Amino acid sequence: MAGNRLKRAQEMEFTKQGGAVAEADSAHDSSVVWRVVDMPDKGGAGVLATASIAVGACISAESEMNPEEYETRFKFNHSCIPNAHSCADVKGKSTRYVFALRAIEEGEEILISYCPTWWPYAQRHKELKAKFDFECGCEACVEGEARDARERGLAACMTLFDMVPSLMQAKCPREALKMAHTRMDLLLHLKCSVVEVAQAAYDAFQMAAAAGMGKVSRAFVKYSYECRMLALGPHSAETKEAAGLLNAAWSPMPGASLVVPPALLHNICAYCGKNGAKSTCGVCSLAYCDRTCQTTAWADHKKLCKCYKRPS
Ligand SMILES: [Zn+2]
Ligand SMILES: [Zn+2]
Ligand SMILES: [Zn+2]
Repeated sequence: MAGNRLKRAQEMEFTKQGGAVAEADSAHDSSVVWRVVDMPDKGGAGVLATASIAVGACISAESEMNPEEYETRFKFNHSCIPNAHSCADVKGKSTRYVFALRAIEEGEEILISYCPTWWPYAQRHKELKAKFDFECGCEACVEGEARDARERGLAACMTLFDMVPSLMQAKCPREALKMAHTRMDLLLHLKCSVVEVAQAAYDAFQMAAAAGMGKVSRAFVKYSYECRMLALGPHSAETKEAAGLLNAAWSPMPGASLVVPPALLHNICAYCGKNGAKSTCGVCSLAYCDRTCQTTAWADHKKLCKCYKRPS
């Protein structure tokens, strides 16, 4: 049966609490905004928001030193399009947090992803089956046209990710920036985790710095920092790393070239991921199939397109 329920979480919760409805443990947080409830129609227990939760809010913070407390993170079920993110403040120890990746409404289930959200369907399913023994039935995994379109976008993200090293080797940081930026916009549009959007923005920052585009690199590192603050909190090493680079100065990569070897040229649409895009953003030069893709993409795209406007 398809689902996103972790058997371990259900068993653990129900033996410990011995009832159908378990209140959230509020011992270490007086402002607990969720509770574990039985959701028979969904195939098991889940965590429901008991109040509206703002984007970036801390949903849970618990010590990883105490194994019993640590186990409670498994209360949160999985979705490939999660509304929350679970992370540790220092790699592998101390506190484990769950932060809201977007605004969550009262009564909505709080879901985290157990694997990278930008992985293609086949890879996600292999991982979830092997490590957690369930088959995901979230909105991103339901068979149909929407899934196929989303998969095309995720495949394009993978292609873009793979081409960046070759472009850097060919000393084409400007084209590598275009790919990192395209990938970032695709991840946003595909509702991938903010953590992965932050990493793509960080990659774009590095490419822009290598291209000697100071204003653009600062805008991308600032955006990466804001995304990390939201999804990982102020204590994470990644957030601190981005914060430390907000005002750094960069010199362009020696011998950087604008001439891209034909084999490394791409025209992947920054909205739908189709190859062979014919339209171009007049400001930042990202590619789009046509006006429709470009117009639909604008709400997300405008965030960082505007930083290209004036030469730095
Ligand atoms: Zn799924
Ligand atoms: Zn643009
Ligand atoms: Zn398109």
